[in-house]
Amino acid sequence: MVAHKFYSKWRGTHECSYVPQNRQRSYLVFATCLAAVLSLGGCATTTTGLEEESLAGENHPAVDFQIKEDRLYQIGYRLGVSNARYCDRKQPTLGLMIHDARAYADADDVRSVLGLSGDIGIQSVAKGSPAHLAGLKQNDILLAIDGVEIDQIGDPGKPAWYRATALRQLIDQSALDGIVSLTWRSAEGVLLVDDIDAVDSCASVFELISGDDGAAADGTRVLVGENFPGFAYAEDEFAAILAHEMAHNLLGHIPFLKQLGNGEGRARNSERDADRLMPWLLTNAGYEPEAAIRMMRLYGPRHGGGLLRRRTHDGWDERVVMISEEVERLQSLSGGEISAPLDWRMHFEPMLEMQ
Ligand SMILES: [Zn+2]
Repeated sequence: MVAHKFYSKWRGTHECSYVPQNRQRSYLVFATCLAAVLSLGGCATTTTGLEEESLAGENHPAVDFQIKEDRLYQIGYRLGVSNARYCDRKQPTLGLMIHDARAYADADDVRSVLGLSGDIGIQSVAKGSPAHLAGLKQNDILLAIDGVEIDQIGDPGKPAWYRATALRQLIDQSALDGIVSLTWRSAEGVLLVDDIDAVDSCASVFELISGDDGAAADGTRVLVGENFPGFAYAEDEFAAILAHEMAHNLLGHIPFLKQLGNGEGRARNSERDADRLMPWLLTNAGYEPEAAIRMMRLYGPRHGGGLLRRRTHDGWDERVVMISEEVERLQSLSGGEISAPLDWRMHFEPMLEMQ
């Protein structure tokens, strides 16, 4: 099992302070650590051997990881930026994700297989984003942020994963002023500098978690395991799952439930609202709202059961009905064909009472 090679990165993207020792244990860790967060089908789902087989690529694991993280980031960017005008909490973004070769167990191997000429690689550049328009490409090397060389950033005393987190925070911080100056080296070895305008996005980031197969939200992040079955779905159906998790963050469910608990139907209604907001978020991102229904029909029969979920999630068939009703509502709101933009902040009617 090669997934454990990336535990150091996993550690960097997760709030837990310890590293699981093997894949089996990582399920437990994930379930324990995310016990307070919400997920599409419960904290820790277990995939079947068949799915794991079909999801396992023939590439080097670092390449597979990059393909999946790029896929996740592309869709996440699209959902976040297209819905930004309705989000209370915004985070300006350039549309690029970085990672640090040194945060992997075998840094030389990762540099070699991805063709990186340095440590801070561009893991993903969202299509149409400011970073894309500035010419940044996957596997280019980031050298400086606002004139500060990356070697000057971070703390040598901290664990290896810390630097990428510090760099991401620095870019986010700088983006609040609207412009970030980046210096980078292309794969051809050309040195480039550009002042890049940031665009608004909802303040919800999307991160791939190694060695896991769930999808969850923690209030500010959408966390997706690299073995999550949704990677095998069509893009818009996978986007529906990400929209569900993002909805938990946008609607403020996590801090609310942490404070008041899951009882009295609160968790169940939060799940209903995350389901019902999917078609709105999808439409704004240019996807068909019906993808939410198709996703639930695919996901539900395989993953919609189980004791873990029964108390907080309706049955998948009930969820299909509820999402379909929301799509019908959108049709009547838009007088026929559903089209963007849909102002869910004004017109979405939550079932979870949060006042
Ligand atoms: Zn959920």
